[in-house]
Formats: sequence, structure tokens, C-alpha cells
Amino acid sequence: MPWSIAPLLRRTSAMLAIMIAATISAFAAPITITADLSEAPRKLWHADMTIPVQPGALTLTTVKWVPGNHRPTGPIDQLTGIVFHANGKTLPWRRDDVDLYAFHLDVPKGVSTLDVHVDAIVTARVSDKLAMLEWEKFMLYPAGTPVRDIQIQPSVKVPSGWGVGTALTPTGKDGDTTHFAPVTVEMLEDSPVLTGKYFKEIPLAPDVTPKHFLDVAGDAPEDVDLRPQFLTALNNLVHEAGAMYSSHHYNSYHFLLTLSDYAGGEGLEHHQSSDNGVGEKGYADDQHAVVEADLLPHEFTHSWNGKYRRPEGLATPDYTTPMRGDLLWVYEGMTQYLGDILAARSGFRTPEQYREALAYMAGTYDNRPGRNWRNTEDTAISASILRGGNPAWSNWRRGQDYYDEGELLWLDVDTTIRQLTHNQKSLHDFLVLFVGKGGDTGPMVVPYNFDELAKTLNEVVPNDWAGFLHERITTLNPHANLAGIEHGGYKVVYTDKPSSYERDALSMRSNIDAWFSAGLHLTHDGTIADVRVYSAADEAKLAPGEKVIGVNGRTFSADTFHDALKQAKGSTEPIHLIVQSDTYIYPIDLNYHDGEKYPALQRVEGTPALLDDIIKPMTAVQPIPGAKNQGY
Ligand SMILES: [Zn+2]
Repeated sequence: MPWSIAPLLRRTSAMLAIMIAATISAFAAPITITADLSEAPRKLWHADMTIPVQPGALTLTTVKWVPGNHRPTGPIDQLTGIVFHANGKTLPWRRDDVDLYAFHLDVPKGVSTLDVHVDAIVTARVSDKLAMLEWEKFMLYPAGTPVRDIQIQPSVKVPSGWGVGTALTPTGKDGDTTHFAPVTVEMLEDSPVLTGKYFKEIPLAPDVTPKHFLDVAGDAPEDVDLRPQFLTALNNLVHEAGAMYSSHHYNSYHFLLTLSDYAGGEGLEHHQSSDNGVGEKGYADDQHAVVEADLLPHEFTHSWNGKYRRPEGLATPDYTTPMRGDLLWVYEGMTQYLGDILAARSGFRTPEQYREALAYMAGTYDNRPGRNWRNTEDTAISASILRGGNPAWSNWRRGQDYYDEGELLWLDVDTTIRQLTHNQKSLHDFLVLFVGKGGDTGPMVVPYNFDELAKTLNEVVPNDWAGFLHERITTLNPHANLAGIEHGGYKVVYTDKPSSYERDALSMRSNIDAWFSAGLHLTHDGTIADVRVYSAADEAKLAPGEKVIGVNGRTFSADTFHDALKQAKGSTEPIHLIVQSDTYIYPIDLNYHDGEKYPALQRVEGTPALLDDIIKPMTAVQPIPGAKNQGY
């Protein structure tokens, strides 16, 4: 499908005039950009650009809507030290009064090249020993031209001796500067560069073409010696994803991974690479590894679902046109489903850990009161205003629920296909048609809409798929869609002990979970992170931000709180709390008597265990060294 020009036509005629003036010839020399990260840990990065221009009005812009972020989060507020030069003279500039990402200039007669210097304040994805360069931090380019039509030749200077990992094609080295082959602005925005003092590039799955690599940088030398469990699972993942998606849409693929407590957590998808960040010990022990297990399978899946196949509302011709997120329950939701399946098939998680993670997620969304007023589609449409923020009342607001609601939906789709075809077909058959469309290709975008989705599902097995999807996305339903789990031969039950997955997840977040019981998320010091609407805690008028300082006459601790929940079970005596609100303290009685509750999956004997079938590997995966409970 061709790029829609409608969004461009919606702009003012004045902007159109600027765009025409700014249009660069297809035969123009490429822009050049040299990113200087030689002092990256100082968090002030630099770039020099040369931009071919013609005399007259010129508008340059930088990235506003960041692909994969689905939000107007281009870091324009951190762009500083901007100077334009032509023929040795400094040129004045004026920022656009409305679009603050755009800079207007008047290029003098006789000038064919503009020299641009910019600095960027970068405080995320950087530590003392590593840095991840996403080019939207300081890339400027002519406004009004589709970014796939603008050529740019990048180079990167890094601290002496630091390694470099990227999907860009190196063409030469000049001291600490690496030069890369020209690409389009679209592909440069899509091609981050990882650099680090402690750096390793590890080839993966050597029998597979195209080639795959893990590029890893950590804060200490031993960090990059990843455990054999992790590397075996990652090699398995390359095989399993290839089998599941029956195609590739990249020339080579680089998993870029930072292991740092300072560079931040991240998961950002690209066509030929992914920008992944976990803590320094994120994969160093079983406890951390199981919680982070789906990160790489999720971001890798996006190369097919999200980057190659992209909802038309997100397939914008440039990064100024607003993105529409209404199909994010496919872009992110199906990726969440597939990423979790691939994590289990590849051995990042055991089948038991897969079920425990699924139970925890399903229980969370089945206890989400905000679903009484807001449907799942609205969380997708509202994606750009729902990320992050304070957890207070987030269960009533809802967040980016299209991820996990999408996972439950696509599990429902997968198990429905299996049931309708007597297990002869599955979501794999849909994926062959949908993300395998066109066979193997290089990186490119093939947009789709809702109708194509329903039509392709009907090619797999006839059904009212449009009605099926529409109902599940747009209907208000106080309960989560647990049909896929039930078709899969399991049901969600509540037990009095958390699963080991939930324990690991809670301890990483320093959380105490009374969510499914009294209706509270607490931090370890008793601060209430959130109160579940319609719960006993809600009826007791507890509020996020308050701090529980006393429980049944004792000072608060995780143990006294859990003991109080246990003692109150079956009794009529309320749990007596002392609660601090700002500088005031109050006694509050919590009338909750059903004991501790944690979600789990229970097998429904006598029904087909489709859920077990779904996580069986498609290839001859290598066993994970030292792992228990690997039986599929
Ligand atoms: Zn994602």
C-alpha cells in the first residue's frame, strides 16, 4: 500500500510552500552526520552535519513522533548548542512558533552546503562505561519530505578503545571514528549504535541466514560474560522465530543489550536491531532472568509485527505527522503474546514459569475496575498519554492495557483457530500469511488495517473474525478475556501463596502484594502504591500515597501485614491499621476476611491441553544447561 499523502495535505498552505522549497533533489548528495560520543559519560553529546541545500527558505526538523514509542517524545527539549554555518558565516534561525521541532532559515545565494553543529543532553541509556545512541537525539533533516526519501551518511566517534555494535554497515575506520554506508533518514532513525568499554559481539545461530548477533555492553568486565543458559536460549530464539514467522525482513539482525543499573531499562524495536536495557545483573541469576525473559523475544518479534507489518495509523511518512494507535492491540498485543510463547519455546522460561507469568497477568487484568468505563481499544487510541506516570488509581484509569489484553485476545484467537480446525491449524498459519507476506525481504514497511486482519484470519479458517475481534476490543467487560486460557485446558484460580514467578517479580520491585485479596499494593516501608477500586481497602477509604505504619498494635512490616491477613481469615474482627496521611495519623479498620489470594493456573483435567501444545518448540531446540522442569 502506498504512503498516504492525506496527512500532508491537511497542513497549512504556508507549510506546504516551505515543504516545496525544502524538498531536496533525489540526486542530491547525502546529508552527513558525525556523532561524537567520545565524552559520552559527561552526558553532553555532539554532532556535526552537512546538509545539501539550495538558496532560499529552508525548514529543518528533528524527530517528534518516535517510532516504537508511539508518542511525541522526540527529545527536542534536550537539543542545545545549535549553530548553522554557510560559507564560513553563522546563519540566523528562528524556531517555528507552533511546531517547536522545526527551525526556519534563509539560505544565502551561492550556498549549496549547510554546516550544522548540535549538542544533546543525554541522561538515559548512558553510564560511565557504555552508551546507546538513538539518532533522534540530534538528527536534523529537511521538513516536508518523506524520511524514506532523504539520504544520510553516518559516522560515530566513541571513547578510545570502546566497542561498537549496530545494524549499520561499517565502511571504514579513522581512529576512534567508524564510518557507515549511507542510509535513509528512516533507516538511520531505526539503527541505534551501542558502544561500551566492556563490549562483546557474539554471532548467534551460525547455521541461519541472514546473520544474527548479540552486541552486549556492561558496567563491569564480567557482565558481558553472559551465562550459557541465556546464550543457549537466545540461539534457540533465532531458530524458533524463523520457524514461527517463516520469513525474515532484515539483512542481518543485532540484539543490542546494555547491562547497567545506570543506563536504564529499555526495550525499543527496530527493523534490523533492538535496543534492550536491563540491570547490570539482569540475566546473571535465575530470579532476574525469569522476570526479564520476554524482553528479547518481544523486541525481536517486532521486526515482523510492528516494523515490517505496521498499522496504517502508525506508518507515517515522517516523524512530524501524528501517529494513530488504534491497532496497538495488534502491534503490541500480538507481540506480547508471541514474545511470551517464544520465551517459553526457546527456554528463557520453563513451561511452568510461562504459566505462572500468564496467571499473574490474567489475574491482574481480571481485577482491573477501570475496564467498567474504558474499553481496550481506548487504551490503544490513548497510548500516547498512558505510558508511565504515578501508580495512584491506575487500576481505575487503566494504563497501556492493550499489551496484556492483546496477549489474552491473541491467545483466544490462537486457541479458537485450533478448535475450529481440530488442531490442524494455529496462529502460525495466520503469521505465515500476515508477517510472511512477500517472502524474505530487506527492511521495509507494509501497512495494514483492521479489514486485512479479519480477511487474513478468514483465509486461515472461515469465521466472523471481524465481529470476534470487534466485540473483544470495544465492549465494556468487567472481566478479562480468559477464554483462551480455558480453551487451553486451564483456569485461573486463587491460592494462598504467590507463585515463584510472582515472588521474583515482587522482590525485584520491592512490593508487597495484597492486590487480589484486600486490594492493596504496598512498598516495603508500608507506603500504599495503589488501592483497588471496589476492594475492602477501597471501602476502608485507604488512599495511594498514605503509609501504613501500624498493624494490629504492631509496627508495620511485610510479616506483620501478611500475618494480619491470615489471622483475619474467617474472623469478624477487622484488621486494625494505623495510617499516616501527610503529617496526620489515623486508625483505620480494614474489614477483609478472605485470606491471602494469589493467581495461579489450574489444569482442567479431561480437556485438551492446548496451552501446553502452544509452547512446544517448533525446532530441535538445545536444552538449557542446568535448568529444571524443562519437559515440554
Ligand atoms: Zn513492544
